[in-house]
Amino acid sequence: MANTNFPLIFERSKEGRTSYSFPELDVPETDLDSEFEDMYVRQEAPDLPEISELEIMRHYTALSNRNYGVDSGFYPLGSCTMKYNPKINEDVARLPGFSHIHPLQDEKSVQGAMEMMYDLQQALGEITGMHKVSLQPSAGAQGEWTGLMMIRAYHEANGDYNRTQVVVPDSAHGTNPASAKVAGFDAVTVKTNEHGLVDLEDLKRVVTEETAALMLTNPNTLGLFETEILEMAEVIHGVGGKLYYDGANLNAIMGYTRPGDMGFDVVHLNLHKTFTGPHGGGGPGSGPVGVSDELAAFLPKPLLVKQDNEYRFNYDRPQSIGRVKPYYGNFGINLRAYTYIRTMGAEGLKKVSEYAVLNANYMMRKLEKEYVLPYPQHCKHEFVLSGKKQKKLGVRTLDIAKRLLDYGYHPPTIYFPLNVEEALMVEPTETEAKETLDGFVDTMLTISDEAKNDPELVQEAPHNTIVKRMDETTAARKPILRYQRENNNR
Ligand SMILES: *Cc1c(COP(=O)(O)O)cnc(C)c1O
Repeated sequence: MANTNFPLIFERSKEGRTSYSFPELDVPETDLDSEFEDMYVRQEAPDLPEISELEIMRHYTALSNRNYGVDSGFYPLGSCTMKYNPKINEDVARLPGFSHIHPLQDEKSVQGAMEMMYDLQQALGEITGMHKVSLQPSAGAQGEWTGLMMIRAYHEANGDYNRTQVVVPDSAHGTNPASAKVAGFDAVTVKTNEHGLVDLEDLKRVVTEETAALMLTNPNTLGLFETEILEMAEVIHGVGGKLYYDGANLNAIMGYTRPGDMGFDVVHLNLHKTFTGPHGGGGPGSGPVGVSDELAAFLPKPLLVKQDNEYRFNYDRPQSIGRVKPYYGNFGINLRAYTYIRTMGAEGLKKVSEYAVLNANYMMRKLEKEYVLPYPQHCKHEFVLSGKKQKKLGVRTLDIAKRLLDYGYHPPTIYFPLNVEEALMVEPTETEAKETLDGFVDTMLTISDEAKNDPELVQEAPHNTIVKRMDETTAARKPILRYQRENNNR
């Protein structure tokens, strides 16, 4: 644990101390002309700390020790798949043949990199059962938007201009209705039934000739596999709509079933989740889209193709929705995903889903003894508990999350999905050992005991962290985004 009293960089500053040394001047000294100086040179030196190289080193090391990531501990943040990022991916991403090339290089000189991208497209097509894949979108949400824009283009190409609605279950990931809106559609909600699944009767009620598509998150945000997909497909295709599969959490089904085989027209994947791209702190991501034969003409351009044993970018695609990302996606993340797929192999990827689902069900059955489990059937890669029993004792889900910090855990996703009161969404991932899962379960049970016997202890948590409970309202209203020496805030 980092020393909490470690003085920050400004407090260590001593006038005249430096951490750099320039070589001696070996050219004649000149005066800048004054016009240039007024324009480009600061009149007053910036107020920077003056400290030695060692002190800087210790400053940044101390800051990095305050960080928390998958490499430091268990990170069961539901829906985010915070699983181990194998280090061999990093080695491959750093190979000079990959890391020293430029996206504007002549295609003939980067055939190896293009082959990797093409093979990755083929592998993702195989994994999802889709006809063609583009690696361009750089996040799950961007994949969703790209998919919806292709669906719009498809309908318009058929002279079908009245499809203004996208149906989104209330148990969908939050990005789904947002993407529908950004793509220019109205998001129409379909309800969840008492089993936590899409209510087929409600779906039949909301679907009309104006339905452009249904966006299905599967497993849904409750971690449940939608059991009536074929019936939903019939309803949507029956009115001429398209089926969109949010495949961000493919580690629940990979190797067992494929969106393409279920009748989906578009799917996106999150390579930074299922396929081990390191993520958190905002990126970089990769959200490739796969489409059925019927929608292939609308994929973003350029499309990477193989012709006469040569790889090239095809720009001659008159029906394409156009470019959605500079160059051809986040190359580094795609390369890591490719490395992962090649190291795991088909059998390995299937095992990933198996263990992800096993780990989640193992924890769920242990935790349901103390926490309310609103939907009791087996889950897929994650599960959602409700903290409403603890809330009756005055301990809210937010308090439980803060208390977990005291025990050295990153908390699960909380207050999402919205259709579960005091929700706690736990995703253990497949990479964790049984002892780690047991340790987290024991801690959750301990916190439940604390809620009964000493609720204040939980309500006032965290007690052991560098930063205590935040005043989040004030932080949002009066943000202090920069270190200011005067008020000495951290
Ligand atoms: C994470 C996630 C998304 C969004 O992906 P981003 O890369 O964060 O944009 C969409 N749908 C589901 C189900 C997700 O878990």
